[in-house]
Amino acid sequence: MAARRPGFPRTVIEFQRRFSTDEACELYLAECRWPDGFRCPRCGNEKAWALPARRLRECTACHYQASTTAGTILHRTRTPLLVWFWAAFLMIIDKRGVSALGIQRQLGIARYETAWMILHKLRRATVNLERTRLTGEVEVDETWVGGYQPGGEGRTRKGRRAALVVMALEVGNGYPERLRARLVPDDTSASLVGFVKDVVEPGSVVITDGFQSYRALAAAGYTHRRIVEGSGDAFTNPVPHLHQAIGNLKAWLNGTHRGVTRRHLAVYLDEFVFRHNRRLNLAAAFQTLLGLGTGRGPTTYDTITGAKDLPKVAFTPSKKVARVASMSGATATNDTPEALGASSEQGASGTTARQTGR
Ligand SMILES: [Zn+2]
Repeated sequence: MAARRPGFPRTVIEFQRRFSTDEACELYLAECRWPDGFRCPRCGNEKAWALPARRLRECTACHYQASTTAGTILHRTRTPLLVWFWAAFLMIIDKRGVSALGIQRQLGIARYETAWMILHKLRRATVNLERTRLTGEVEVDETWVGGYQPGGEGRTRKGRRAALVVMALEVGNGYPERLRARLVPDDTSASLVGFVKDVVEPGSVVITDGFQSYRALAAAGYTHRRIVEGSGDAFTNPVPHLHQAIGNLKAWLNGTHRGVTRRHLAVYLDEFVFRHNRRLNLAAAFQTLLGLGTGRGPTTYDTITGAKDLPKVAFTPSKKVARVASMSGATATNDTPEALGASSEQGASGTTARQTGR
């Protein structure tokens, strides 16, 4: 399946090469506006003359002039597109944030007020990026993370530090897009479907495994695609893209932040989601910042509570977890072990065993 989204640079060098002129930026806008090629909104003709300096495409048949910046935050701006593109890019790749003075100097913007205004507009879009609900097709699953405990097998079993996290991943044209995650106290319908209601736009397609708590999704206004694992001849992973993200999360937690406890997990979870949404989806973040729609609805100002606002959650055992744990014979695990293969938590319990043996 081909991605409709035009390719996007992943490094500063690539970005520099790709967007070296205003004209190149304008061409990118046109590609975002018409991912399948130009189509005249008035007569449907598919040929146009490019007028990049005026940020227009003129239909060769009816001479209708379509703007390449319409509907974006770049519309009618007097600032060069190049400046906007670089400001947005710098904002995405530098998670510490950029200052108006910084971009004024870096991008050679004459007036401080212009730099400030550019950042102000981009920042608003950044906030919206976190708050807009996922749309289209969204994979949802819950997983256990953390739980590494050097105290030994018995204690791990008894007072486990693992935390339950529910995650939702937007999938567009077969590619992972925006991610949302939340620490939840249990895997009841109230917790799981409650999360989906907060982060996924009603009417979207929500894909889950056969777990019973998700049954309430249809009544909550979603098209629920429930895929029961192991129901066919071959094993089908109902949420393959999300499981990859979950694997990345565990590897990241285990590799970079060994021994994250439940108390601190929320912070790391936020950072992981941030990294996923910015770095793995530079194109999506970039397009959202500039307001370039590719089949995505307009930005809304829905106020939803992110993971930051969540109170600390306590652990409540559940049927599903008990079932999976007994199946895999593991202690603090977790999700479908088949899908994740060697999960990081299994690695962690391995370490625990080694330490106990010493
Ligand atoms: Zn036309």
